[in-house]
Amino acid sequence: MKAFHTERAMKQAILVAPEQFEIREVEKPSPKKGEALLKVKAVGICGSDIHAYHGKHPFMSCPIVLGHEAAGEVVELGEGVTNVAIGDRVLMRPQDICGECPMCKSGRYNICKSLKVIGCQETGASSDYFAVDAELLYKLPDNVAYDVGTVVEPLAVGVHAVKRPNGGVKGKNVVVIGAGTIGNVVAQSAKGLGANKVMITDVSDFKLDMAKKCGIDIAVNVAKEDIFKVIEENYGVDGVDVVFECSANDGALNQALEYARKGTTIVIVGVFGNKATVNLANVQDREYDVIGTLMYLHEDYVDALRLVGEGTVDLETLITHRFPLEKVADAYQCIKENKDVQKIILTV
Ligand SMILES: [Zn+2]
Ligand SMILES: [Zn+2]
Repeated sequence: MKAFHTERAMKQAILVAPEQFEIREVEKPSPKKGEALLKVKAVGICGSDIHAYHGKHPFMSCPIVLGHEAAGEVVELGEGVTNVAIGDRVLMRPQDICGECPMCKSGRYNICKSLKVIGCQETGASSDYFAVDAELLYKLPDNVAYDVGTVVEPLAVGVHAVKRPNGGVKGKNVVVIGAGTIGNVVAQSAKGLGANKVMITDVSDFKLDMAKKCGIDIAVNVAKEDIFKVIEENYGVDGVDVVFECSANDGALNQALEYARKGTTIVIVGVFGNKATVNLANVQDREYDVIGTLMYLHEDYVDALRLVGEGTVDLETLITHRFPLEKVADAYQCIKENKDVQKIILTV
């Protein structure tokens, strides 16, 4: 281990190889022009981090410092930073974009041609301090703690997803497939942005109970209940207006292509690892709109922060475990060994 003068030293958790973390002492960064230095307070563990941990993420490789869901306090400012001040409690939007490609120019920089995600393709925030472009920082509402603040990043994924169908979800009957963190926050975003009724499906009672606790109208265990019957009972002749697929499961998607009313929109939120086998005949015959969604935009962060600040969404319930950053290996071990895990937060 290379030692630095105690003043400028900090600890950093690095995934050196699949399933192998190291806590290293590295030099504390100094904020460059346009950057702010954060004293990191909390880092969320995401599904993509878990894939990287197992060495199975197609676009992430070791060695890597994970951590894209990060919240902290601003402690130092680089030259020219005016949007945040020392002492601000902030969270980060981890998108490094080119600003030049056609998608960036059209405002859809979430699908920038050369998008790099901080903590996925660039060094993340699993450390005592983290220097980041200040433009990527958002102030946390006073009533939102740092650990809950990290969950605003996945919430913004949900907010973006529910804005993808034409006209959003206002007044619509929604079905969300999968009650993991992303399914949960998609369902909560749909409620928060004005859906008529929101139904969520899963095979885990633990996750479905959590969704109910978060205020989702109808939670269905598809291993125990007949989804077609439940939909008919709850949505009647109006049927399902929008489906959000958050389980990355072919079977569940094909079932949705049966129960969704003709002419509805199906949003693919889940990350399908393998090539799905999908009943495209129904897509054609029923004029389904099947659309994708990726990450979020600035406006989605603003909406997500508003929803959490005013208490419209409940993110605290999603946090099932907390570990100090030095115990990062234990945190991933916990995910491996436990079924009833939703969001795990590393505290720094
Ligand atoms: Zn994430
Ligand atoms: Zn771009």
